[in-house]
Amino acid sequence: MNKDFSFKVKKINNKARLGQITCAHGNIDTPAFMPVGTCGTVKAMKFSDVANSGAQIILGNTYHLMLRPGADLINEMGGLHQYINWNKPILTDSGGFQVMSLSKIRKINDEGVEFSSHIDGVKYFVTPEESIRIQHKLGSDITMIFDECVSYPASYDDAKKAMLRSILWAKRSKEAFVKRSGYAIFGIMQGSTFKDLRQESTKKLINIGFDGYAIGGLAVGEGQDKMFETLDYSCDLLPNNKPRYLMGVGKPSDIIGAVARGVDMFDCVMPTRSGRNGQAFTKEGALNIRNAKYKSDSRPLDQDCSCYACKNHSRAYIHHLIKSNEILGAMLLSEHNIFYYQKLMKEIRLAILEDRFEDFYQKNHI
Ligand SMILES: [Zn+2]
Repeated sequence: MNKDFSFKVKKINNKARLGQITCAHGNIDTPAFMPVGTCGTVKAMKFSDVANSGAQIILGNTYHLMLRPGADLINEMGGLHQYINWNKPILTDSGGFQVMSLSKIRKINDEGVEFSSHIDGVKYFVTPEESIRIQHKLGSDITMIFDECVSYPASYDDAKKAMLRSILWAKRSKEAFVKRSGYAIFGIMQGSTFKDLRQESTKKLINIGFDGYAIGGLAVGEGQDKMFETLDYSCDLLPNNKPRYLMGVGKPSDIIGAVARGVDMFDCVMPTRSGRNGQAFTKEGALNIRNAKYKSDSRPLDQDCSCYACKNHSRAYIHHLIKSNEILGAMLLSEHNIFYYQKLMKEIRLAILEDRFEDFYQKNHI
C-alpha cells in the first residue's frame, strides 16, 4: 500500500500528456478528473458508485471539514479515508479559496487569515502551518499549500501582493509538511491573468520545490478565452516531470482545451451541482431535464452511458423526480454526470495513447 509518490509521463501528443501518478492509496491515470467531496461526501452519491464511475481520486475541502466535524475528530476516527470509507487517493485543498469566498474575513496579513465560520460565526485563525497540520490529520495523499486567491478582475497591485504573500505561505507550507512515503505536497501558482506575475510565481515555487504544481486563480470569472490564454504560457513554465493541476475546472470543453495545453488534473463541483439542479451532460450538450419536452420521453438520459440511471430509468421518470424535488432525481443525475466526466477522461486518455488527441480536440472542444 505504501508507495513512493511518483509521476510518469507515458505519452505526449503536442502538449497533451498521458501519465500516471502513484501515491499512498493507489494510482491515478492522468489526465484525471477528481469528483469534489466537499464535506466528506460526493454529494448525493454512494462511494461505491463514485468508484464504479472510474474515479481514482476525490477531493476533500479542508475548510468545510475543519469546521464540521473537525480535523481532530476525523483523525481520531482513523483519518479521512477510513472515516468516509474511501480507500483510494484523496487530495485536500488548503482551505484558502473557501476562506476567501465563503467566510467573513476579519483580518488577513502575512501571518494568516482570521475569519468567522459561515455555519455558526465562530472565529478561527488559520495560518499556512495550521492548514498543513489539518491536512496531515485528515491524512490526504496530496496536500495543497495555503494560498491567497484574488477575485477577478484584480488590479495588478492586488494580484502581485496576493501572489507574493502566497509565495511566503508556500515556503511555510512546505516547511510544515511532514514528509512520508507516498504523500505529496503541491504548490499553487497565482498571479491572476498577468503573465509576468505568473512567471515570477512559478519561478519562486520551483525554487522552493514541490511534488506537483497547481494553476490557481483561474475559472473565477475570466472566461474560457482568457483562461486558455493564461494556460498557454503557464503550462510552459512548469517542470515536465511533475503533475499539473488546474483547480476548479470545469465544463467538458474547458477540460479538453486545458488538456490540449498540458494540464493533467482537474476538479469541479459542476457535474454534481448541475445534477442536483436538473442538468444532465451528454455528447449532444447539456439537457435540462426540467424542460416539458422530456415529460414523456422514454429514452435514457444518454444512449451511450452505462450508469445505473441510464440503464434503468427514462428521461420522463427523472423529469418527474426533479420536478417533484425527489432526492432520487438528484442522485440519478449526479451519478450520470460523474460517469459522463469519467468517460470523457477515459476517451481523452485513449486518444492520447493512440496519437489522435489533436483530432479528438478538433471534434470535441466546443
Ligand atoms: Zn448515465
